[in-house]
Amino acid sequence: MSHAGPGTGPQGADRPDDVAPGGDPLPVSTHASKAGSTPATTGNTASATPPALPSWGNHPQAAPARVQALHWRDEPLPTPASAAPMLARGNGRSYGDVGLNHGGTVLLTRGLDRVIAFDCQRGILRCEAGILLDRLLELTVPQGWLLPVLPGTAQVTVGGAIGNDIHGKNHHQAGSFGCHVRAFELLRSDGTRLECSPDHHAELFAASIGGLGLTGLITWVELQLVPVPGPWLLATDTRFTGWDAFHELSRAHAAAQYTVAWLDALVPSGQPWRGVFSHGDFAALDDGPAPPKARAGVPFTPPLCLPRAGAVRVLNGQRWRRARTDPAPVHYRRFFFPLDAIGHWNRLYGRRGFVQHQCVLPPQVAIDSLVQIQATIAASGQPPLLAVAKTFGPLASPGLLSFPRPGTTLALDFPFRGEPTVALLAHLDAIVAEAGGAVYPAKDAHLSGAHFRQFFPAWQRFCPLVDPAFSSSFWRRVMADAKPPP
Ligand SMILES: Cc1cc2nc3c(=O)[nH]c(=O)nc-3n(C[C@H](O)[C@H](O)[C@H](O)COP(=O)(O)OP(=O)(O)OC[C@H]3O[C@@H](n4cnc5c(N)ncnc54)[C@H](O)[C@@H]3O)c2cc1C
Repeated sequence: MSHAGPGTGPQGADRPDDVAPGGDPLPVSTHASKAGSTPATTGNTASATPPALPSWGNHPQAAPARVQALHWRDEPLPTPASAAPMLARGNGRSYGDVGLNHGGTVLLTRGLDRVIAFDCQRGILRCEAGILLDRLLELTVPQGWLLPVLPGTAQVTVGGAIGNDIHGKNHHQAGSFGCHVRAFELLRSDGTRLECSPDHHAELFAASIGGLGLTGLITWVELQLVPVPGPWLLATDTRFTGWDAFHELSRAHAAAQYTVAWLDALVPSGQPWRGVFSHGDFAALDDGPAPPKARAGVPFTPPLCLPRAGAVRVLNGQRWRRARTDPAPVHYRRFFFPLDAIGHWNRLYGRRGFVQHQCVLPPQVAIDSLVQIQATIAASGQPPLLAVAKTFGPLASPGLLSFPRPGTTLALDFPFRGEPTVALLAHLDAIVAEAGGAVYPAKDAHLSGAHFRQFFPAWQRFCPLVDPAFSSSFWRRVMADAKPPP
């Protein structure tokens, strides 16, 4: 393995200051310098007046009592007496409240951003947990290695990818992120550091993958990467209308490495949603398109939600017409992270923000439930402005509370309109519960405790593994009415 020293990761010490998800600097009072060679033992820094920390959807928000920036993987945690309950925060890309800790201590992990070792013969990478997938890709893709699972944004930390056990467009073949984690270090609030893997501290390994940050702080991670012939895929789009056609396309392209469908939910009332199904495979090409250029970001949060159904309808029409129906080379960043080109696009939804509802529905009942979901949304008069569907595969994750499981997953973005939106989400949760599916905690802000415990039956095995000094707004919400496990 080649070893990179402290602060000599792909970006060295030039990472941006800690920023809130909307991109606003967090008022953490001072930063421990990374320039020195001696790790600080108490060099973490806490803010005097922490701000409200939003989720990615800007709804909900939470005001931690204390925000503490971490910079060294061997520095201790704050003492529980002064800090409980604690929660690690990666890059704040979770939509709901899994990354929020109202009244507690938030540990900002973005300072843990070093690559520790990279074996470019075997594709084994060890890095600190606060490094962004974006930075890792810059390092590994030119050397012929790709992260095994990529979400819809590269602005996610490795710790956050484990905390929610994220999935990507290749779930049907590769499973979730946790399937590719070889080991990590877990720092518990009593000061113990446990190297967890499928063979060592296996219960804590399973609990921490998709463990919503509740088992302690992950300081470093070792991952198995996958080989790629270059930065380009050959991708093809197919237009479709209705859920039967979507599932037929999923079956027909099950051998493709990556599949996903974008949906137009703004079709006239009573008509089935239409969409564009994309499938792609990495290809050995001599040349191909450049990565997309970052466009100007949204500079501030407007008071009102800017995207209007009429304008989105026009954009949807363009997306439908522009489908590339012949195989075309595409840069991996355009294929995987189309929204990353516009910085802080989440601000477009205005001060009230937006919510995402993402569910997975078992294969036997998926089509009936999807039709019911569509009818419920139509009756509510709140169409989602963005909708994405994908078929999950059978590979089980090692995570106790992992969300992905076989079936159809549907993610829907709704502008937050207060009570009517909360009522709609409750209806959708009820349909999912009736179908025997699950709702994704990474996107959730309103799930009831009873539904959470139905969707994640391993919660009883999980509870004893939670670090007693760690908690989150999400966890307190869904466990408030739970009887302690026997
Ligand atoms: C545009 C967009 C597209 C997305 N697409 C997908 C997708 O395709 N698939 C998917 O699965 N998700 C997707 N997501 C959601 C996102 O991948 C997850 O919410 C991810 O967990 C966010 O990582 P983060 O670094 O921002 O962590 P945060 O959101 O800050 O934290 C996530 C969880 O991880 C825990 N955590 C973070 N760091 C550590 C650590 N060092 N130790 C212990 N616990 C830790 C936190 O406590 C929290 O519970 C998308 C999000 C956006 C904004």
